[in-house]
Amino acid sequence: MYDLPQPDAYRDERLLMVEQQLRARGIRDERVLDAMARAPRHEFVPQEHRGEAYEDHPIAIGEGQTISQPFVVAAMLEALALRPEDVALEVGTGSGYETAVLAELVGTVYSIERIASLAERATAVLERLGYSNVTVVHGDGSQGLAEAAPFDAIVVSAAAPQVPRPLMDQLRDGGRLVIPVGSGFAQNLQLVRKIGGAATTMYLDGVRFVPLIGREGFREGEWIG
Ligand code: SAH
Repeated sequence: MYDLPQPDAYRDERLLMVEQQLRARGIRDERVLDAMARAPRHEFVPQEHRGEAYEDHPIAIGEGQTISQPFVVAAMLEALALRPEDVALEVGTGSGYETAVLAELVGTVYSIERIASLAERATAVLERLGYSNVTVVHGDGSQGLAEAAPFDAIVVSAAAPQVPRPLMDQLRDGGRLVIPVGSGFAQNLQLVRKIGGAATTMYLDGVRFVPLIGREGFREGEWIG
């Protein structure tokens, strides 16, 4: 059913996650389901939490940050309607897990992370696993990544006070952006499409992410969650 790599100790748990947490809850994009059946989430989780890697919740990854719940990753990536030839930008690399799922789905992935130690760790794991179509950059992703633009798809994995203007500017015409917008208390996932230079916004689910901290995000200390 799924196009799987070499089996590993977590394969059965991973397939159960796909069936019970994703497919049963309405994720329909077979490419997303397949990518999440392949990407070894346990490799991106700190050793002490490895046994929980495929459970239905976010997990602490250090530096006060978390790896997102599997369903949230699937819902965001499904909303982006990704194609194999796309160039994608992820803002907030964190553990590198969603980066790996993206790398299974599109041709080229750029991912930007503001905390250097997380960017380094994610780079090392992604390299060890052989994800060769990924570039991880250390920097403020609230300003996008101008040198690699334009992008067909942008996914922001941290909550912003509003849609950062540079991200819209760096989206190709026909491009899609998924971003949680709101405060520490209430956030909504937004899907923004850029068509003929104009933006159309669809409001998806209520979510809870860590803050996007940067020039086009929140200031450090401004966030009350
Ligand atoms: N997709 C990640 C989620 C990580 S949590 C995963 O699956 O692991 C969100 C990440 O966004 C955190 O690592 C945080 O440090 C990062 N972040 C917050 N503000 C940022 C900014 N302005 N630029 C880049 N990364 C940012």
